[in-house]
Amino acid sequence: MEFQRRGVMLVIASPSGAGKSSISRALFAQDPNIRLSVSVTTRARRTDEVEGTHYYFVDVPTFNRMRADGELLEWAQVHDNFYGTPRARVEEQLAAGHDILFDVDYQGTLQLYEKSRSDMVTVFILPPTIKELRARLERRAQDSVGTIEKRLRNAKIEMAHYSEYDYIIINDDLEASTQKVRSILAAARLARQRLGQLDNFVKDLQNQIDSL
Ligand code: 5GP
Repeated sequence: MEFQRRGVMLVIASPSGAGKSSISRALFAQDPNIRLSVSVTTRARRTDEVEGTHYYFVDVPTFNRMRADGELLEWAQVHDNFYGTPRARVEEQLAAGHDILFDVDYQGTLQLYEKSRSDMVTVFILPPTIKELRARLERRAQDSVGTIEKRLRNAKIEMAHYSEYDYIIINDDLEASTQKVRSILAAARLARQRLGQLDNFVKDLQNQIDSL
């Protein structure tokens, strides 16, 4: 039996290249109830990225205006660029029972905790080795050598925050890691705080006992 429930805010975080995007894409493709939170960023668009699907690409003045107007639920500076989560659709989708997948860094996760902890489940993805992380960044080949070095240095900072997350996955197998996140989400959907409307259902069960 299914009840109307509040959506889950699912945060998946990792250093760049640890597999977070692939896991997120696989989850999203297989589950029609999941919505992606599409961030705004001042970063330049990569060739394979689509406006409105991967990000909304904005200039710095536009980003600053959105921030000043309270349009962002959280924001952070990562690798010299600004990133933020538009607020508008999040509450609407949670109330409608849709789960929302967030790809935010540790700074964003901390800001979301302050506002929405009871709605959130957070997962941190670690690479099996740094050799593998570097190889994944190089395979992606979208970034210059200098950018890859910067992302590796940032990975060190990002990894220092692993203990702020609810669940940890070491991603040495994409399919297995995706399955693990799916299990975490399945459990979160059953958490009592998301099932607000059970009183009548339980009263009805009790009444049925009384009338036996
Ligand atoms: P990339 O440039 O590789 O797409 O993302 C770089 C980093 O920015 C990633 O760690 C990603 O999680 C983070 N990021 C992307 N969007 C947001 C956002 O809206 N808020 C925050 N705080 N971080 C974000």
